[in-house]
Amino acid sequence: MSCQTIDLSGTIVHISRGPEMVEVVNRRDGETRWCFTCRTRREFRYIVMAPTVPDYYGPNADIKCGHCKTSDGDLFPGGEREWE
Ligand SMILES: [Zn+2]
Repeated sequence: MSCQTIDLSGTIVHISRGPEMVEVVNRRDGETRWCFTCRTRREFRYIVMAPTVPDYYGPNADIKCGHCKTSDGDLFPGGEREWE
């Protein structure tokens, strides 16, 4: 966990963020399908991000539109992906 302190004209803001993440997997996910953000058919990517240092967060996987990069852009708005 890294923490950053920024002085905005006298107002001190603390920003804590997770570890640096790197992409460890980026492959095509299944068939080209509808993206609700692009409103057209797109190729989707299966992307796994992992922290550069061993961390509580661990790797996490995401399905993203290959064009607009929206996570779960192929799901109906408000829908949630169910991982098997
Ligand atoms: Zn899209």
